[in-house]
Amino acid sequence: MKKSHLIICGRLFDGIHEDLTPDMEILVEGSRITAVGRNLSRPKDVNVIDLKHLTVTPGMIDAHVHGNLMRWQETDNILFQSEGYSTLAFLHTAERCLERGFTTIRCNGMGPAGYGIVDARNVIDKGLFPAARMNVGAHMLGGPGMPGDMSMYACTNEPLSDYMQIKTIGSGRDFFRNQVRREVKYGTDFIKIFLSGSFLSPDGGPEISYLDDEELQIIIQTAHDLGKPVTAHVYPPRMMKKLLEFGIDGMEHGALMDEETAKMFEKQDTYLVPTFSPFQDVIEGNDNLVDKNTEDSQMKLRKFAPRLKESRQIIRDSKIRLGFGSDFCAVHQPYESWYEYRSWMRSDMGAFRTLKAATSVNAGILKMDHLIGSIEPGKLADIAGWHRDLLDDCDALSECDFVMKGGRVYPTADIVVDEYAR
Ligand SMILES: [Zn+2]
Repeated sequence: MKKSHLIICGRLFDGIHEDLTPDMEILVEGSRITAVGRNLSRPKDVNVIDLKHLTVTPGMIDAHVHGNLMRWQETDNILFQSEGYSTLAFLHTAERCLERGFTTIRCNGMGPAGYGIVDARNVIDKGLFPAARMNVGAHMLGGPGMPGDMSMYACTNEPLSDYMQIKTIGSGRDFFRNQVRREVKYGTDFIKIFLSGSFLSPDGGPEISYLDDEELQIIIQTAHDLGKPVTAHVYPPRMMKKLLEFGIDGMEHGALMDEETAKMFEKQDTYLVPTFSPFQDVIEGNDNLVDKNTEDSQMKLRKFAPRLKESRQIIRDSKIRLGFGSDFCAVHQPYESWYEYRSWMRSDMGAFRTLKAATSVNAGILKMDHLIGSIEPGKLADIAGWHRDLLDDCDALSECDFVMKGGRVYPTADIVVDEYAR
């Protein structure tokens, strides 16, 4: 017989309605939610879970995680991680995410050299390891020297750097057609392009492009032929416009957004995961934290600070379909997804818009909205509980009090300040 739970909620945010509804109950049978309402009839032997003191939400989803960067100081040392170490680091991050109320994470194209990231996802899906479920973009596709090409750290030594460059980095239509097919063959859930340079790795900066039109088009076309969505790391409007024209499914960052490009996003209903967190410190003028980045990153962040601020307002005032993703690979840890909540709240995004982004909107971006992202009969029982005030408290997601994934209850953990590794 399936194990059943009746969860009594203090207040319920169901992932869809902009409301915290009091006195609701959720019936869970096996891995699924079977009923939601007041005074539900109780099956025999049901396990009652009393969360009257908490606000209950769907399990949160972080749509932009780099799980193998276990300490921020390791962004250059990642080059020397073995595939085994990196794969285990993903499991560690996914476990930490789960105990903080994030039941699903989307891993954004910085897996280990091989396909250990796919193994990590599969081990979790089989229930062999207690962790957040992973949606995987196994590797980044782009040109040599792009952000995330960690062999850049060895580029004073050409043979060494060439040896360390991962297989999905290269040039030309045939190369990328083949790489997309390989990624899909070995189990990726989506394709991740690195188009522009970045703020956080030692490349030419956010306005540089690492792929040409032909390469972009063949990647998107081949992925779509194989039924897989494509997203891209991108900053400048001219590159975003190009990707919109080529029919990409969505984009990451977009932190140099302008009005015209925002309108194009709205028109095509293309999603953007704006990853506010990595730019929050520079936007707020929090020099202590900006100074923790490499000198190269500090310089880029400060140079673009006015445009980052302006772009944040354009994104806030737009109707773009926004996903919630933290993108930690520098000062913060990859499982500190709550910090993205703070970043959205401090950017006046509004609590419900933020909560929907982290639940039902993200589920759609992951193409998993038939399974997760809301508390409705038929969905997987991914449920979290929080004692802090989700509507007013910017740090409310830093303390999770209850987490269930697929009908199973898991331990929770608060953030420990020591772990910030600052
Ligand atoms: Zn990223």
